[in-house]
Amino acid sequence: MAKWVYTFGDGKAEGAAEMKALLGGKGANIAEMSNLGLPVPPGFTITTEVCTYFYAHDRQYPAELRDQVSAALDHVGQLAGRRFGDVEDPLLVSVRSGARASMPGMMDTVLNLGLSDLTVQAVAAAGDARFAYDSYRRFITMYSNVVLGLDHHHFEEILQTYKDDNGYSLDTDLGADDWKEIIVAYKKLVETELGKPFPQDPHEQLWGAIGAVFGSWMNARAITYRRLHDIPESWGTAVNVQAMVFGNMGETSATGVAFTRNPSTGDKRLYGEFLVNAQGEDVVAGIRTPQDITEAARLESGSERPSLEVLMPEAYAEFSGICQTLELHYRDMQDVEFTIERGKLWMLQTRAGKRTTKAALKVAVDMCREGLISRDEAILRIDPAGLDQLLHPTIDPSAERTVLAKGLPASPGAASGEIVFNSEDAVAAKQAGRKVILVRIETSPEDIHGMHAAEGILTTRGGMTSHAAVVARGMGKPCVSGAGSIRVDYTAETLTAGGKTLRKGDMVTIDGGSGQVLAGRVPMLQPELSGDFATLMVWADAARRMGVRTNAETPADARAAVQFGAEGIGLSRTEHMFFDEGRIVAVREMILADDEKGRRQALAKLLPMQRADFVELFEIMKGKPVTIRLLDPPLHEFLPKTEEEIAEVAKGLGVHPQKLRERAEELHEFNPMLGFRGCRLAISYPEIAEMQARAIFEAAVEAGKATGEPVVPEVMVPLVAIRQEFDLVKARIDAMAAAVSKEKGVEIKYHVGTMIELPRACLQAADIARTAEFFSFGTNDLTQTTYGLSRDDAAQFLGPYLQRGILEQDPFVTLDQVGVGELVKIAAERGRSVRPDIKLGICGEHGGDPASIRFCETVALDYVSCSPFRVPIARLAAAQAAIEHGKAAVSEA
Ligand code: ADP
Ligand code: MG
Ligand code: MG
Repeated sequence: MAKWVYTFGDGKAEGAAEMKALLGGKGANIAEMSNLGLPVPPGFTITTEVCTYFYAHDRQYPAELRDQVSAALDHVGQLAGRRFGDVEDPLLVSVRSGARASMPGMMDTVLNLGLSDLTVQAVAAAGDARFAYDSYRRFITMYSNVVLGLDHHHFEEILQTYKDDNGYSLDTDLGADDWKEIIVAYKKLVETELGKPFPQDPHEQLWGAIGAVFGSWMNARAITYRRLHDIPESWGTAVNVQAMVFGNMGETSATGVAFTRNPSTGDKRLYGEFLVNAQGEDVVAGIRTPQDITEAARLESGSERPSLEVLMPEAYAEFSGICQTLELHYRDMQDVEFTIERGKLWMLQTRAGKRTTKAALKVAVDMCREGLISRDEAILRIDPAGLDQLLHPTIDPSAERTVLAKGLPASPGAASGEIVFNSEDAVAAKQAGRKVILVRIETSPEDIHGMHAAEGILTTRGGMTSHAAVVARGMGKPCVSGAGSIRVDYTAETLTAGGKTLRKGDMVTIDGGSGQVLAGRVPMLQPELSGDFATLMVWADAARRMGVRTNAETPADARAAVQFGAEGIGLSRTEHMFFDEGRIVAVREMILADDEKGRRQALAKLLPMQRADFVELFEIMKGKPVTIRLLDPPLHEFLPKTEEEIAEVAKGLGVHPQKLRERAEELHEFNPMLGFRGCRLAISYPEIAEMQARAIFEAAVEAGKATGEPVVPEVMVPLVAIRQEFDLVKARIDAMAAAVSKEKGVEIKYHVGTMIELPRACLQAADIARTAEFFSFGTNDLTQTTYGLSRDDAAQFLGPYLQRGILEQDPFVTLDQVGVGELVKIAAERGRSVRPDIKLGICGEHGGDPASIRFCETVALDYVSCSPFRVPIARLAAAQAAIEHGKAAVSEA
């Protein structure tokens, strides 16, 4: 018989950590904790297969499910010492969703299930009436919200009015009788809104909650989250039903969340928050400000309220021991949830903790040094894309600051932007090209798209574990949370802080590293790339096989790239040099000249400038390989457009402006995209290629002398389709090398190769490789000509469709997807079949994309080349690719 239900509790479990696919992350880890003998309230997990079955069978459950749930409930009842549905001493349970991958805030938990008008009396009679009615009102609120679909704010309004009428400020001020009155109002509300009374039968409640969890798998929030995080719909969610333990049983009870290390910095210190006499999500909801778990953290934060360490020393000692046990067991930093019921500690959840990149690096390096993980594991633990966070600027310490307010340093990095007060405005501003800081009292899953669009997030409520903080850290965006001294008025769209009132559109800067909120735009500093980052990069460099180069044409880019660890230049475009002010006139003269003589005259003006460009690049790169691509774009891109520009060029050429206009018209008639550009330019006007080749070789000689490091330039012919084209241009380059060599009396070493960026070139690769010494895959054009979309195209044209859910998949084609990667593979194989040592690299935007880099490893390219700021990302991704590829090879053997 199929098994749909797995129990846990009392030091045993039918499941285990590796059963995440079946039990969901939460259920599998609860089972694991139970197996480890940790104090976990007993319960059971209904598997993700039930979810799959449910959707495959018109929302029906498998026939055996009811009996299996009922047997599991009995088992839990035995372990807990009370029976579900009992009117004398009822077992209360929580119903918790839990998918394979954690989906924070996407699906809601129902607590205290099993309470009814009848059972609440039994619980009250057993001792603590306030506790009983507090639990019941929580249950009604949660159940009505999650299962019955009534909005929270209905209930909040009733509670707030009651508090106002009776002069209460905190929930903890209310006693049993107060809650009883509120419960009456709550139930009336449910009946009015739904035309049905609040369900009183515990079994009806339980099945209602289970159905709601499965139902929530297909709610809009969950679907959006899955799309953003590439989680397949087929995975499904599990449901965990677990005996309740109570953090709201008075002053010796508490509930909290913690990280086994600091999730912002990675420091090896227990880090967390708790609330006395509270339940469930109270800590993260920001209703009350939570207290620190450790005394050290309390001293640091200057909080006056006692730490858990001081308040409940025994429970704290056990808890910190368990945190250590979990870290050693999972060999990773954990994010745990716990409850203390009358001094007794219960563990409710553990999972790998989300962390900033800075923390990820520190934890990985520390754990490797502690002997917990290997270097390879340390390398694999870091998300390459996340390194971007470290490359974010921080506020210049010497800059003047007008501090408006201080909140919690919830996610590092600094950002400036105009303030907006809702997600729609954030998205609209972003689309209009403006930078914004999203200011909210607190955020919820509905704000995800606004958070995506914003440069940074500022909230006035909530702690380090609030929704805003957790999500911002995940996104790598700066966030200041819980800036309580700021007053936000959504209606007026203003915020007031430190005696100042700012309106929507006013500029602020937030510093997610210190928690400061500053007026105006503040100067920023580039980050230091030392410490754990440097250590991990050294390990990554040792582990990777592919080289990492950069795409750079300006000295500033080249210098930055070298600092980020670039081992050469994979692509230096020369057209940008031509657009330079002071040169463009000479360029236009060259293009519009009538004959070769005119062109050569103009080119002679350009030669010294072009040579100086290369000398500078070669000197910066100090003998590292530099690939220079000959002029590529359609010539009409350089043409003068305004009357003034035309007049200037006409004067330089000594012709009438009208004649110039006609010549420009003529040039426009060539096919501008694929035809008259790339190597076709050099074939029609060989003198252009000759001038560039001369500049390259003369510069190589000069820079080699200056730095003492011989320069071996790689001259790249663009947009070749067949070998004959390449050969024509190569002949000119070779001749020029010989000429310069003779003039200078030195031997010149160099390589001539081509950019492979047309599907035809990929298919012709064997033939082209007969004369080309290297290929560099220009995957931007290759993607476009394979009818994929570049990353920019995808973002520009299809982003809105993705957001609105019209398209399921990001149409950007990574190399591991069918099409472009296949062409690269074909070209690599064919090229090598003729020239086994042909050097293969990639210089399109894919060279900085981790998924594509993984693909490059599988076809054994020699190097990837990417923009300077992506060089560290590429170094790490290449290392991970090598490790994973090595592992795959071993397991295949
Ligand atoms: P999420 O996935 O949103 O974190 P959880 O299922 O972990 O949701 O539930 C949220 C909170 O509810 C937990 O952190 C815990 O405080 C509380 N909770 C869940 N189950 C129980 C239980 N059996 N006893 C007491 N508290 C519980
Ligand atoms: Mg939650
Ligand atoms: Mg949880």
